[in-house]
Amino acid sequence: MAQSDYPTARQFLPEERNLNSLARASQGCQGCPLFRNARQTVFGVGAADAQIMLVGEQPGRREDEAGEPFVGPAGKVLDRALEEAGMRRGDLYITNCVKHFKSESQNGGRRGKKPNISEINACRPWLESEIEAVQPEIIIALGAVAARSLAGRPLTVGEAIGNWLETQEGRDLIVTYHPSAALRAPAESDRDRIFDVLASDLSRAWEAVGPMRPGPRAGV
Ligand code: SF4
Repeated sequence: MAQSDYPTARQFLPEERNLNSLARASQGCQGCPLFRNARQTVFGVGAADAQIMLVGEQPGRREDEAGEPFVGPAGKVLDRALEEAGMRRGDLYITNCVKHFKSESQNGGRRGKKPNISEINACRPWLESEIEAVQPEIIIALGAVAARSLAGRPLTVGEAIGNWLETQEGRDLIVTYHPSAALRAPAESDRDRIFDVLASDLSRAWEAVGPMRPGPRAGV
């Protein structure tokens, strides 16, 4: 079946929208074909009043199993980059622009496959609702798929790096590498460079919201 046979996520949004009701309702979403081959919807997690929202591409195999974003190898890279930037997961809201794992068969197993533009658009009502509920000051797109969903136009990470951009809703947007890029680059020097860019973009956002942050907490 094609995307035109599915209604998009909008039909599954609850009447009353807060993070809890949205997360619950998203478990029943059949807005595009991706729910068919995934175990569960992987909704966002984190601080309901976070000033920074991180948006990745889609859950991977580990996230599909656990039901939480960024718990696999890319999540470990993200944690290292957050630590380098002086941040913790609890400071953020973390989600993906597509909430079901898209995969294809390979050697008897399954491996992740990039969502297409129809699937990204079909899933956008969940992301819009998360943004509406959290009201972040800054959104960080991790990779080109998230950048496209947020900016509403194709954007490469290379052209966006170092710039302040805007989401479709007019919120401040930083586009940086997806943490998995720091695992996949063939050369160690490239992996190091990508990690440094990611950590420095996280740090840039953290500094920008600095004046709006609560005072220092124990352990920070
Ligand atoms: S990927 Fe998004 S739109 Fe598609 S079924 Fe899952 S939650 Fe719904």
